[in-house]
Amino acid sequence: MGKVIKPPSMLGMLGGGQLGKFFVIAAHRLGYRVTVLDPDQESPAGKIADNHICSSFSDKSSLDLMINNCEAISTEFENIPSETIKYLEQKVIMHPNSLAISIVQSRVKEKQFIKDLKLPIGPYEPIVSIESFSHLKNKKLFPAIFKQSQFGYDGKGQSHLNNIDEAKTVFNSSNETEFVLEKKLSLDKEISVVLSRSSNGVSKIFPVIENHHEAGILDLSIVPARVNENLKKEAVDYALELAKNLNYIGTIAVEFFISDKKLYVNEIAPRPHNSGHFTLDACNISQFDQQVLSLVGENLIDIRLENNAVMLNLLGDLWLKDGGVKTPKFEEIEESEVNIHLYGKNAPRIGRKMGHITIIGKNIEDLISKAGKIRSKLWES
Ligand code: ADP
Ligand code: MG
Repeated sequence: MGKVIKPPSMLGMLGGGQLGKFFVIAAHRLGYRVTVLDPDQESPAGKIADNHICSSFSDKSSLDLMINNCEAISTEFENIPSETIKYLEQKVIMHPNSLAISIVQSRVKEKQFIKDLKLPIGPYEPIVSIESFSHLKNKKLFPAIFKQSQFGYDGKGQSHLNNIDEAKTVFNSSNETEFVLEKKLSLDKEISVVLSRSSNGVSKIFPVIENHHEAGILDLSIVPARVNENLKKEAVDYALELAKNLNYIGTIAVEFFISDKKLYVNEIAPRPHNSGHFTLDACNISQFDQQVLSLVGENLIDIRLENNAVMLNLLGDLWLKDGGVKTPKFEEIEESEVNIHLYGKNAPRIGRKMGHITIIGKNIEDLISKAGKIRSKLWES
């Protein structure tokens, strides 16, 4: 075991969104202080942190401030420039490491990394120049999803396409230069594995999560996932293998597709994950607590699922339904098994994650039907 950073040391967080906010809450609970770096004056994490450095992620004097103020730094966001992570990790404890982030922030590199480890991945082709299209001829990738390699999230930067000409049109009209063209799989289910890996290489794995997306955005997560135990075990093994080969320290999530009863790695998130929010209310320890513990060099805690859970995302759409901005009447759904989390974002936008609700209990099918009723009530409120 290396050096352990003790409270009330100052920790750093790159990114001020909801994942950063939950990190700050977890760190405070454990007695640490947090400095958040985020360019948004109103960022959810910045507003509750001990310090908020409000600047871009590549402003050198702000990075120096982080280095001077913080004992260790983590991130909530994979699109931090990798030069920033490289600069920080030379001077201060920084997890996850720059190599892991640089692989995961590029879909082209990420998929090659998964392939090199011989883990199953759906059919795809990297498109990095107009010549790449000549490799597509006999590959049978259409209908396909054409995804920009960098800066995509929540289904953004993706087009559903039927032929090479459509793909060329998107390629030629985009400012992005790298893409992946993925065969559209017929999905039985989507699942994710969230795990945390400590500085001594020990991993603690949260229960496998079943995920339902709407228009590319996570809508509902169900825990434990309703898939057979063999597939779950396979998914956990792959996630462990990925984390180990990235020399990963911190909380990481791996998304999987199940198609025709077979498992495929979809993508890796080098941070806590939206599908892991149930851990705040249904486990003895959350994905954010483990992120803090791994960052400060502590041992991680054994995980217990104390209740089954269904998590429902709350998007800005719910605030904007009648033309103006109107906060849904959350008081109408209050009860002890319904945990409402609002992120404190001022401006609701279509598709913007404003909060989530975790419903805990015993019977999964009851929880799913309760989630449906809560959703309708909020829409009608
Ligand atoms: P993001 O970074 O936006 O989460 P993903 O690659 O995970 O990007 O895509 C978002 C969602 O779109 C997935 O969770 C899945 O529901 C759907 N999707 C993405 N790729 C495929 C595919 N190859 N086949 C079928 N569905 C897909
Ligand atoms: Mg995804």
